Amino acid sequence: MIDSKAGIIGFVVGDAMGVPLEFCMREKLMQKPTTEMLGYGSHNVPKGAWSDDSSMTLATVDAIIKDNGVNFNTIANNFLEWVKNAKYTSTDRVFDIGRTCLRAIGRYENKKDVAEKCGGTSEMDNGNGSLMRMLPLVYYCYAKEMNEKEIYEVVKNVSSITHRHEISIMGCFIYVMYGIALLKNKNLTQAYRTVKKIKYNTYFTDETINRYYRLLRKNINKYSLDEIKSTGFIIDTLEATIWVLLNTKTFNQAIIGAINLGNDTDTVGACVGGIAGLYYGLENINKTWQSELLKYDYIVDLCNKFNKVLN
Ligand SMILES: [Mg+2]
Repeated sequence: MIDSKAGIIGFVVGDAMGVPLEFCMREKLMQKPTTEMLGYGSHNVPKGAWSDDSSMTLATVDAIIKDNGVNFNTIANNFLEWVKNAKYTSTDRVFDIGRTCLRAIGRYENKKDVAEKCGGTSEMDNGNGSLMRMLPLVYYCYAKEMNEKEIYEVVKNVSSITHRHEISIMGCFIYVMYGIALLKNKNLTQAYRTVKKIKYNTYFTDETINRYYRLLRKNINKYSLDEIKSTGFIIDTLEATIWVLLNTKTFNQAIIGAINLGNDTDTVGACVGGIAGLYYGLENINKTWQSELLKYDYIVDLCNKFNKVLN
């Protein structure tokens, strides 16, 4: 049986651990690393509050449950509910949202026709705002036994609701393929090898593929800490995510490693947490951290409903 709780709760834990540290300097964190869930800090929200990463992920999960499948407009409608009415939030207000997402959701609100055409298409629209909501597709595409081409199509369209540039779509595709390889019982290193072997030129231009050179042609785990950026740019976030996963051995280590990189701590924490949770299992996610999450029961309930679609 596929149980999405491990990944999704791991994801929300990583987000909530990172929220108070967002925009913190790495140098400062490295002197005194954070190893527990804190309150307030960068966004002045209570301990256990999770942000846009989890909100958009849960909104996507809820849309898939509703349609018993992936409908791009339903996902976009749920994003609108989030932005307008603070549905899918931990604190009943929206305290964190990316510029590209906000604009795309605004475009959708105006037209309400084709959600997957609303995403930003400029080079500047390559923040990690669609990467941060791909985890439900890892589970969904795996459960439906989709082939590579089908996975590409659904990832492309779901990303394009907010992020329609090729760099964003490719980053999301790599993340989803990595997660799926792990669900197919590959270990973290084997799964990395699997995504490196994909023929990306079937889907993407050379120019875009070359941007992922360090991740796909080199061994990202061999880069030094100073060479890994943890900004909100999708390539940096994805590199940091895989780097942390390949250089840590437990869920808790992975989260602590991720959030102490500084900068976009909540999204790097969430992207690492989703994959680490899925890989190490729910039983290996720190119990205290889980219990500290706001609206924990709501998240578990949503995962259980999602599981019914998956199994
Ligand atoms: Mg966030």
